[in-house]
Amino acid sequence: MKKLFYNISKIHGTNERGTFKKGREMQKLSTIENGWILVENGTVKQLGANIAQQELAQMISESNESVDLRGMEVLPGFVDSHTHIVFAAPRHEEFALRIKGATYEEIAEKGGGILNSARKLQSMSEDDLYEQAAQRVALMMKHGTTTIEIKSGYGLTVESELKMLRVIKRLKKNFPCTIKATFLGAHAFPAEFKTNQQGYIDLIINEMLPVVIEEGLADHIDVFCDKGFFNVEQTHNILKLAAEKGLPAKIHANELGLTGGVQAAVANKAWSADHLEHCEGDEIQALISGFEQEYGGTMPVALPGTSYFLGIPYAPVKNFMAHGLPVALATDFNPGSSPICSLQTIWAFACTQMKMMPEEAFHAVTCNAARSMRLEHEVGSLAVGMKADFIATKTRDAVKAVPYFLGQNHADMVFVGGEQI
Ligand SMILES: [Zn+2]
Repeated sequence: MKKLFYNISKIHGTNERGTFKKGREMQKLSTIENGWILVENGTVKQLGANIAQQELAQMISESNESVDLRGMEVLPGFVDSHTHIVFAAPRHEEFALRIKGATYEEIAEKGGGILNSARKLQSMSEDDLYEQAAQRVALMMKHGTTTIEIKSGYGLTVESELKMLRVIKRLKKNFPCTIKATFLGAHAFPAEFKTNQQGYIDLIINEMLPVVIEEGLADHIDVFCDKGFFNVEQTHNILKLAAEKGLPAKIHANELGLTGGVQAAVANKAWSADHLEHCEGDEIQALISGFEQEYGGTMPVALPGTSYFLGIPYAPVKNFMAHGLPVALATDFNPGSSPICSLQTIWAFACTQMKMMPEEAFHAVTCNAARSMRLEHEVGSLAVGMKADFIATKTRDAVKAVPYFLGQNHADMVFVGGEQI
């Protein structure tokens, strides 16, 4: 099955397969002008520029289907490497409390936050959870996101954590986009384990993890390693066991303070360390040392939607890039700290609030985000052999204009495996 896309004014993100970009390379954009893309069985078979009229007619006649993109520009489908989109209810009440001045931690201490989401999720049926999450996946795809990581972590009981992961498994089966599941049983300590933290860790290790492994319910494991949540030692204990069972780590680190989360991520060969609002010299050195090691480094993933929504500091990504590190961006789409579905919005926040150049932030939501899940050979760039996931937009000079025209959806057409969604 051959499908030709032609009459494309610019194809952006035409990196070599497997590319991710560090430091200053993040500013360098690969673009093909007057381009075409030939897709075969869902992957990019060939792509190029400036094809002669006669040759184009020949290619059209040899393809099963051809699509005239009428001068639109094309970008790789966005990769969202950090979301919590399986949730039962929004948290409007907390939104109002925070507007009045309460902090995220104060709300959490009073049983709000993650525990609030957990209570609501525990009482919702798997089917209802699935229906709601499916609507969110569809919404994200409409905004150009074609690869999505989804975490558990609002269950916090054996039954409800597994319920969440089974919802994610159904989403994987029913949607054409690439979906990866992350087991985040270690998201918070449930109220009944407040004075018996080890009891909850035992539950994660002895009751949840074996089923997660046996049923193949997760692609990664995550721990919220931060002030008031899991400490470094607890994080090590969980990640070490998971690694022995073949589950790579992606961790929540340094959102609320200099808590050793980044160092724990590198020590456990995590694929990514996410949040990083509090990072100084030692954290940056730890990240640099990760990229010098054989496992390939821990991708720093910034979540500016959370900083915007909670009014907390932004991750110092300029400093990461100045030290030659790569940076990825994700939405952290969740009901408490980032109810933001679109990576286009995150791209804009990265430029206006974290002072990333549009090209840098573009790579952070495409190839670098793919790398944070070790998917850079499949998605995040447009090259031969990659999945044919892309966005067609009428917006001119899209890489500069998408973050500039904030609040619009620039994804006029979205293709997953070459099929329009
Ligand atoms: Zn998160």
